[in-house]
Amino acid sequence: MSKRLKNKIAIITGASKGIGKGIARVFAQEGAKLLLVARNEKDLLNTAKELQQYSADINIFSADISSNNDMKKMAAICFGKYGRIDILCQNAGIFPSRRITDMDETDWDHVHNTNLKGTFFSIKACLPVMQQQHYGRIVLISSITGPRVGNPGLAHYGASKAGMNGFMKTAALEFAEHNITINAVEPGNILTEGMAGLGEKYIHAQEQAIPLKKLGLPEDIGYATAFLASDEARYITGQSIIVDGGQILPEW
Ligand code: NAP
Repeated sequence: MSKRLKNKIAIITGASKGIGKGIARVFAQEGAKLLLVARNEKDLLNTAKELQQYSADINIFSADISSNNDMKKMAAICFGKYGRIDILCQNAGIFPSRRITDMDETDWDHVHNTNLKGTFFSIKACLPVMQQQHYGRIVLISSITGPRVGNPGLAHYGASKAGMNGFMKTAALEFAEHNITINAVEPGNILTEGMAGLGEKYIHAQEQAIPLKKLGLPEDIGYATAFLASDEARYITGQSIIVDGGQILPEW
């Protein structure tokens, strides 16, 4: 790899599994120093151990992105350890399936508190450091579901992901004067632990619907994220890249 992120200090939320782990692997290969964040400490430790072959500088922090206090601690720990926060990748998110007829306020709040409020809290916590250093790259892991397409059972999720994209556009305007960019990656169907929870039938149906005839891999999102986090993307802000194997293209 080209070491595009050499010595950059990056926080990755939801880094213990799936897409977040794929992003962490690509970032480590590109030379970044990492703070991996998720709730389950054991999973984080296992991931950090796995990634040590790519980078010796990997730390973990167990936190819930829906907790403002946890996010403040996350930023403080990163700053305390490295004196900088160059990159925040806000990837942690949940996608429980429930049709609107069966959905209640608790279901709605659970998804929004994690995906959307967690986005706000994590960014807000890292912002003072990024402003002070006059540098920052924020990458949100959004989704095609919500911003581009619908999916029965995922109305609350789609609303949260469309909300992330909406948040991003104004954030890009507010952060630009501080040399902080914010962009998003919109994954299609990526083979992760979370996706496996949706079942074989769902996965097979998706494979049939995708022009490239396969689900994406976590690293596919990692490569797009690494680009947006790198200095090669320094003049891009408020934009999103769809990484979906062509899934949303067909007219039929
Ligand atoms: P996953 O396999 O379920 O992994 C989710 C990660 O987020 C885990 O590390 C999990 O660890 C962490 N996490 C969940 N809730 C958290 C919370 N409240 N605080 C901190 N960490 C939390 O999910 P994935 O498939 O990789 O999805 C990752 C992101 O990509 C999500 O935002 C999802 O919406 C988006 N996405 C995924 C797909 C796909 O096809 N997989 C498609 C479009 C978008 P803990 O449980 O230990 O906290």
